[in-house]
Amino acid sequence: MDVPVSFLDQLFNERVLHDTGVDGLYARSALFEDVISRFEAFALSFGKDEISESMVFPPGMPMPDFETSGYMKNFPQLAGTVHAFCGHDRDHMGLLQCMAAGEDWTKGQKATDVALTPAACYPLYPILARRGMLPEGGAYVALQSYCFRHEPSKDPARMQMFRQREYVRVGSAKQTMAFRETWKQRGSEMMELLQLPHEVEVANDPFFGRAGKIMASGQREQELKFELLVPVNSTSKPTACMSFNYHMDNFGQAWNILQADGSPAHTACVGFGLERIALALFRHHGFDPDAWPEGVRKVLWG
Ligand code: ATP
Ligand code: ZN
Ligand code: MG
Repeated sequence: MDVPVSFLDQLFNERVLHDTGVDGLYARSALFEDVISRFEAFALSFGKDEISESMVFPPGMPMPDFETSGYMKNFPQLAGTVHAFCGHDRDHMGLLQCMAAGEDWTKGQKATDVALTPAACYPLYPILARRGMLPEGGAYVALQSYCFRHEPSKDPARMQMFRQREYVRVGSAKQTMAFRETWKQRGSEMMELLQLPHEVEVANDPFFGRAGKIMASGQREQELKFELLVPVNSTSKPTACMSFNYHMDNFGQAWNILQADGSPAHTACVGFGLERIALALFRHHGFDPDAWPEGVRKVLWG
């Protein structure tokens, strides 16, 4: 009997992604990257006149800012930190012997001042805070970052290292909530143009442990997070390809970002999962972009 080929295996067979032996860590083909950059240009054509600036972050962020984010309180299971060898000759000898013996050589590694970025907008907040009070209109930033989350999976849409493109609004409650409503609509418009089936639903983050259950239901009750879902790896469990988040003034308080009137800033962000959107396009339109529906080709290739 034929075993159905998983979507992940199809992606490997078609050489869209390349297997590395580690779930969730893949090399990308030039074609995959082209689809992502086309999508980014498409996304940036929305809200062009609203952006106050653009930034691209490296995949790591300063450890003190990572600590301030509260990520270890809420999602310790997903976080990654960068460790490095900081010893002398003798330690080096010990390390090499350990490796040669197939033993755990990593226990002598020391934490550096870099954590892997878990969410693309985190590195932005301390940068804004350092500048002093926000201007009257607040800030409206377009950004992109690689992110790390320790959630290895055979679902190609759940990677350990992936990119998020985000728009982040920082200002008053009114500005940030209006921003999020606008983007919920734009997100659906974008998916219509890309001819991808989708639905927007209220959602929650995977808060850790028993206390996390209460956090998650509070987040849902207050409708702080919405996701735009598209079937990618499965039709019964569609995948979040975009999220629309309102953080109230939590990050404003944590990093001391102040509005022009001196009160803590509110923040909201819309995140596009770039790999997930590319995968959704391959899933629904096939592995050959030359054969994608004309409307979709027009949107992405002009
Ligand atoms: P999920 O519910 O599927 O775990 P999420 O709620 O964790 O998604 P967010 O934290 O809102 O997602 O991240 C913003 C966007 O980043 C998501 O909408 C998604 O498109 C993308 N994303 C999140 N986790 C991953 C992952 N492991 N691999 C690839 N893309 C991801
Ligand atoms: Zn964000
Ligand atoms: Mg998640």
